[in-house]
Amino acid sequence: MRQAMVRAVTVTAGVLLAAALAAGCADITGTGSPGTGAAGPASPGGTSAAGHPAAQAGNAPLGTAAPRAANGAAATPSGHPGPLAGKVIVLDPGHNGANWSHPAIINRLVNVITEWKPCDTTGAETDAGYPEHAFNFDVATRLARLLRAEGATVVLTRPNDTGVGPCVTQRAAIGNRAHAAAAISIHADGGPPSGTGFEVIEPGLIPGHNGAIIGPSDRLGLAIRNAYRRITGEPYSDYVGTEGLDVRTDLGGLNLSTVPKVFIECGNMRNATDAAKLTNPAFRERIAVALAAGFTAFLAPGSHP
Ligand code: ZN
Repeated sequence: MRQAMVRAVTVTAGVLLAAALAAGCADITGTGSPGTGAAGPASPGGTSAAGHPAAQAGNAPLGTAAPRAANGAAATPSGHPGPLAGKVIVLDPGHNGANWSHPAIINRLVNVITEWKPCDTTGAETDAGYPEHAFNFDVATRLARLLRAEGATVVLTRPNDTGVGPCVTQRAAIGNRAHAAAAISIHADGGPPSGTGFEVIEPGLIPGHNGAIIGPSDRLGLAIRNAYRRITGEPYSDYVGTEGLDVRTDLGGLNLSTVPKVFIECGNMRNATDAAKLTNPAFRERIAVALAAGFTAFLAPGSHP
């Protein structure tokens, strides 16, 4: 078994909020307090947020941001059933293009079981100004095309890169409602400039909440990690995680998921070497190919040599 490292960083609520609102990818920088679920904001009512869309009523501008596949296409364009026929996959491109101009919406705190976090964040960017939200959406779009070509039904959590949100709670709920066979949140990090590499983040156990998805999410994470390393050539992160893997309990998109799900930080936008790759459309296509291979390995093992 691989080593799973749970970060044990304890911060005050004020520091947490400040970190979460910082310009960098808050999903990485906004460290929480793993293992403190019992002392967190969990409550009998609050924990049902993910399963009840009505609980997201304050999220009106985002209510339409859950495009469904135009049809349940379960065959490849050639007419032959693909290896992913019948599989629903939810792709969640992190952040959104207009988040920065709607702070009142995205800074609203939402319950992610282990803590309260902003509805959404603005994300990272390269030193040259290529924004993470655009990277995430471009990769998700490329990946959706590849997965559909394998027969999958793909649902994105937002239809374009010009909107606001949706909240992290809603991003999880979209996967849950779709009864996804697998889901991924796509990100790129705003880490230390000296740090390179990618990491896949798996959900940590929150007793009473997500026990059913821990095992399959771990298998999904390993499949994604292995395919990404092999096909993109990107190294494992040298500043976070262990061998390209991490386990966290502070991410709403994972905590609230009832379907197998992982996050990926595809690289470090603040590192010159990584930024050059992430800015390159050909490399983003390679990333999409890698992620598609990971999903296929998880959902249809044996279909690819
Ligand atoms: Zn991010």
